[in-house]
Amino acid sequence: MRPPTDMNRARRANLRPRNRDIGQENTSIPARGRKAGPLPPSYGRRPRCRFRCALTVPILALSGPEVSTRKLMVDWELIDTVLLDMDGTLLDLYFDSYLWKEHLPRRYAERHALDIEAAKRAVGPRIRAREGTLQWYCLDHWTAELGIDISALELEVAHLIALRPHVPDFLQFLRNRGIAVVLTTNAHRRSLSHKLDRTGIGAFFDHIVSSHDFGVPKEQTAFWGRLLSAVPYAPDRTLLVDDNPAVLRSARDFGIRHLLAIRMPDSRGQPRTHGDFASVDSFLDLLPPA
Ligand SMILES: [Mg+2]
Repeated sequence: MRPPTDMNRARRANLRPRNRDIGQENTSIPARGRKAGPLPPSYGRRPRCRFRCALTVPILALSGPEVSTRKLMVDWELIDTVLLDMDGTLLDLYFDSYLWKEHLPRRYAERHALDIEAAKRAVGPRIRAREGTLQWYCLDHWTAELGIDISALELEVAHLIALRPHVPDFLQFLRNRGIAVVLTTNAHRRSLSHKLDRTGIGAFFDHIVSSHDFGVPKEQTAFWGRLLSAVPYAPDRTLLVDDNPAVLRSARDFGIRHLLAIRMPDSRGQPRTHGDFASVDSFLDLLPPA
């Protein structure tokens, strides 16, 4: 692995963030200033045992000969900042798929004395009608709309929260290289906090941004401008990894140059195609050969 060049160090010095967790300076999510190099001991590779203890969720098992087929899809010399989506990118989307498509209809059916298929017909179209809007991602909206505490439902199935393969290795690689790492998610703040607490990956990020802080979802180009006001980054030297093609399109429209999709965001779903966006099977594909 090549160390950052002096030019890149100087460029990154101009990208120093103002604060880490946008809109949540008093959050319980651990805070850390922008600094290249290894993470604190509890998250770093040394001592290894402490790092592993910090990750209390399962990391999905690999299948197939990934090591022998992986390709480096990013020229890291061209990247100063990496923006990472959470659900379906760093975390297995199966948690959200199960919560919204199975668990919520089940609880709705119990409340309204419906069978499960009738509950799905009652709930599904109402949810899909909001897709791509901030309300679609808003726990408070759906709690009020459906009369069911969605945060409580999340806790009931929290055991399904899982990192996608090689996420800690990838985040550690970015840290070691001195690249600014920003979590950019549409997740509601309560859901975000819960998932970061559960996975232990919060300390890897220089900034953690929820689109709810800006009042506009990532699917809208305005989000990236508001992000730029809060977190200095150079769009032409930034990589965004996101499983949502609408988000990738809005980022491209704004001018973010390097874009990658996730081929299989839900480990129990079907592989997805993303049109003209390159997609990645595993973060192992983005790591230089050992
Ligand atoms: Mg996503």
